[in-house]
Amino acid sequence: MSTRRIGLLGGTFDPIHMGHLDLATVAQQALQLTQVLVIPANVPPHRPKPLTSSFHRFAMVALAVAGRSGWRASDVELRHETPSYTTLTLKRFHERGYHPNELFFLIGADAFADITMWRDYPGILDRAHFAVVSRPGSPVTDLISRVPALASRMVHVTPGLELPTRPSVLLIDGATADVSSTAVRARLAAREPMDGMLDPRVQQHIEQHGLYTPPVPDRRMPNPAGAPAAGRLHGQD
Ligand code: ATP
Ligand code: MG
Repeated sequence: MSTRRIGLLGGTFDPIHMGHLDLATVAQQALQLTQVLVIPANVPPHRPKPLTSSFHRFAMVALAVAGRSGWRASDVELRHETPSYTTLTLKRFHERGYHPNELFFLIGADAFADITMWRDYPGILDRAHFAVVSRPGSPVTDLISRVPALASRMVHVTPGLELPTRPSVLLIDGATADVSSTAVRARLAAREPMDGMLDPRVQQHIEQHGLYTPPVPDRRMPNPAGAPAAGRLHGQD
């Protein structure tokens, strides 16, 4: 029997923060995952556009996973022009030879509460285990009442538990940082201290490239008539 256990953490990661890293760490430990792939999404046109480009979102994810054993940044969704749908991503892993039982889609309890709205629901639940981790304000125990249709598939993960042989909804209670990308962006825009919300390498990348922070107008350099403003040539789009 195979012992591969691949955790897949999807998200916009605009930017990746400690809550995301805690979520995957909690799941990695509880489920003894052999790999964790962090997969930035290609955001569909009808969703709010991320503030930073896919390039910067991927770079930040790569910096955040650096040095974490078994973790990788995956470009599986960004390398396709089409909007990301988890069901399609899971299908791509099946085509690469992974069995649904080897795949663990990692997700916060807040996001899983909306699973019935996802493309290919309920079929998507047969494509991988869904490992749902609590988020501050969203305990996993609420899910039985929030998604009652799935109560029979839910399994509370406890130490030593033998995992079900068919794809299930695995509920994991764990401590994750009380952070959101929205809160991170707001702090950066206001130039407030980050207080450990970000991996230090991600924070350095953000500062070095001036992401999320409105540019300070440079009054020392007059802009000659007709010349493009320097900031627009080299700054973020
Ligand atoms: P935004 O504020 O833009 O919605 P976010 O911080 O919620 O960003 P997402 O990209 O929406 O991050 O979330 C990706 C995944 O990470 C989701 O499954 C979400 O539930 C989970 N997640 C995000 N933050 C936390 C956290 N602090 N604790 C546990 N899970 C989290
Ligand atoms: Mg969110």
